[in-house]
Amino acid sequence: MNTKLKLNITWFYPKEMSTYGDRGNIITLVKRATWRDIEVKVEEIGLKEELRPDWTDIYFFGGGQDQSQIQVAEDLKHYKKDFLNQEADDKKVFLGICGGYQLFGHYYRDSDGNELEGLGILDVTTTAGKERMTGNILIEPTFIKEKLVGFENHSGKTVLGERAKPFGNVIIGFGNNGKDRTEGAIENNVHGCYLHGPVLPKNPLFADYLIKLALQKRFGDLDLKFINDNEENLAHQTAVERTLKTH
Ligand code: GLN
Repeated sequence: MNTKLKLNITWFYPKEMSTYGDRGNIITLVKRATWRDIEVKVEEIGLKEELRPDWTDIYFFGGGQDQSQIQVAEDLKHYKKDFLNQEADDKKVFLGICGGYQLFGHYYRDSDGNELEGLGILDVTTTAGKERMTGNILIEPTFIKEKLVGFENHSGKTVLGERAKPFGNVIIGFGNNGKDRTEGAIENNVHGCYLHGPVLPKNPLFADYLIKLALQKRFGDLDLKFINDNEENLAHQTAVERTLKTH
């Protein structure tokens, strides 16, 4: 008898941290799982709300402006930090974009010099610079074959510590800090990057990589059911070519 596959997604602070349409990443995960008859549930976790033990398969944390980050950093520290460190150590799948990514690290020092304590589930630190790093971005990821394309808009400059490996290497754009040509970070199954877009609808292979990683954690080795991605792949390739052309 085939076990019904289930995928539980926890979405952090949808009201405070969802700049540049990052909610599109949740929609993509839900759609690409549902098209494969996977039973998907999404829970939205806000300020002061507790997390459920052994429920979540994928944690998603979108981007946000400095002001929102101050608010959620306090909440993470008081209500969620210890539990999420256990989840990261237990190899649960996380995806953080921009402001969410920054708060996966040890700290984010904002443009006013406030040092916001992060979760420390990625060995990275971030300090706001004077200029904003904005524009289309194209990278060579370190964990899947397909190039990833998106849009970045951040003043934060992120530096990787020893435990973290780059999420990708920059082909076009600024990436982590506009200097070392790295973009994002990975540690355990925690993934952080600066790619808005939203990143998952623009890069279906990355969406499937996260879904498969999360399902394998709960159900053991498996392959995802084939779905016809002709249109999705054409859209992805068009976005890649447009980014290359405009560079
Ligand atoms: N406030 C952070 C910065 O400017 C993150 C911005 C974002 O999430 N787009 O670097």
